[in-house]
Amino acid sequence: MTEPVIVVGAGPVGLAAALALAAERVPAVVLEAERAGVRKEWRGSTLHPPTLALLDRIGAASDAVAHGVRVDRLQFRDLQLPDRATFSYGVLEGRTPFPFRVQYEQYKLLRLLRELAEASPDVDLRQEHRVTGLTGADEGAAAAVVTLADGTRLTAPYVVAADGAHSVLRKLAGIGFPGDTYPSQSLVAATPFPFETVVDDLGPVSYWSGPNGRLSLIRTPDVWRVAVSTTAGVTASADGTGGPHPELAAALDLLVGDRSWAGSPLQQHQLYRSHQRVADRFRAGRLLLAGDAAHLSSTTGGMGLNSGVHDAFDLAARLGPALRAGGDGDGDAEADAYASARRDAAVRIVQPATRTVRAGVDATGRDARLARLRDLAATAADPVAGTRHLSALSMLDAVEGVSR
Ligand SMILES: Cc1cc2nc3c(=O)[nH]c(=O)nc-3n(C[C@H](O)[C@H](O)[C@H](O)COP(=O)(O)OP(=O)(O)OC[C@H]3O[C@@H](n4cnc5c(N)ncnc54)[C@H](O)[C@@H]3O)c2cc1C
Repeated sequence: MTEPVIVVGAGPVGLAAALALAAERVPAVVLEAERAGVRKEWRGSTLHPPTLALLDRIGAASDAVAHGVRVDRLQFRDLQLPDRATFSYGVLEGRTPFPFRVQYEQYKLLRLLRELAEASPDVDLRQEHRVTGLTGADEGAAAAVVTLADGTRLTAPYVVAADGAHSVLRKLAGIGFPGDTYPSQSLVAATPFPFETVVDDLGPVSYWSGPNGRLSLIRTPDVWRVAVSTTAGVTASADGTGGPHPELAAALDLLVGDRSWAGSPLQQHQLYRSHQRVADRFRAGRLLLAGDAAHLSSTTGGMGLNSGVHDAFDLAARLGPALRAGGDGDGDAEADAYASARRDAAVRIVQPATRTVRAGVDATGRDARLARLRDLAATAADPVAGTRHLSALSMLDAVEGVSR
């Protein structure tokens, strides 16, 4: 019997990694610090076409497609200027089995992945198992040993650190996490207000620039999700009590043209900081980093969660043939190939793409906003350039190798 790989963290990336390993006939033990029960956290709500294709391999795409919002076009607009650019997903027909983007809240994806993990004979999901120690992160180590908060020690051929942005395992292995943090914070809130009835030709996903910064408007199955940038230092109450955040209110006033939106409840206020960071290495001995533990990017464009899921499948596709029963090695070369390919995708593709999208919508000067929108409109109108642009925004070029 093959020794299980240990996956630390039962977030979307850890669960996807365990299920993808199970699909490769490699068992996985998932150690999760928190209690069972999914917090109703939105966080990532976007699934791009290649992510849907990968999730389909473990039976997780059809539910997201059936119950999520299928996005047929992506709009770039401005709160004051009439110029706009629209990219139609129709141009991706024939290039991917899922030529569209789906909006499906992270907590629903997590619930689905957890159900699949619990049903899989090859995934052993252990809640309330916090990892506090690690050995085997040095070169040439023959195995990894993790220590749990209660002192229990578990050995595995590889340990996958999918323990999120503040990864304990990354720190224990002494891996640096350089990059930068955006000075402005992001505020996200949900509202049932029917923007589609007051904003002309509103698509399910639109990114707006404006005199005070960006606004994104994303339709999820239940509500509209609204995100704005806020000036550093300005705080909002976590639950939105005490009225809407002034910068959110100013953006919605400009969008709607009056205060009618305030008649609908604003829920789930979340204030958070975005980062652009990539770990110095994705491998240390028998430890492999994946997801937010390995890289962070601006949430504008929705690539963070997606690239973490891509890591999970790449890792399983490479290590599976070596580690499965009767496999052809100890996975050493494959682990190196994973670490190199996925760090390269983060540095070369995801970081520049997210930095560019964010810089575009963060611009506040009228001339810069106008020039950018005209440029985007010209790109959208050109069949070749438009397809290339939408392919990049859909991460079709960020999964090289993953789809093997
Ligand atoms: C407010 C907010 C909004 C976001 N919006 C978007 C968006 O619009 N689009 C997008 O693509 N992304 C978005 N993201 C990012 C997205 O949520 C992450 O990329 C995604 O959650 C990464 O998944 P993960 O599994 O790597 O990490 P996480 O989801 O953080 O999961 C890590 C898991 O590891 C567990 N854990 C941690 N330490 C230990 C330990 N020592 N032992 C055992 N378990 C441990 C944690 O309890 C957790 O369950 C957003 C993030 C935030 C915070």
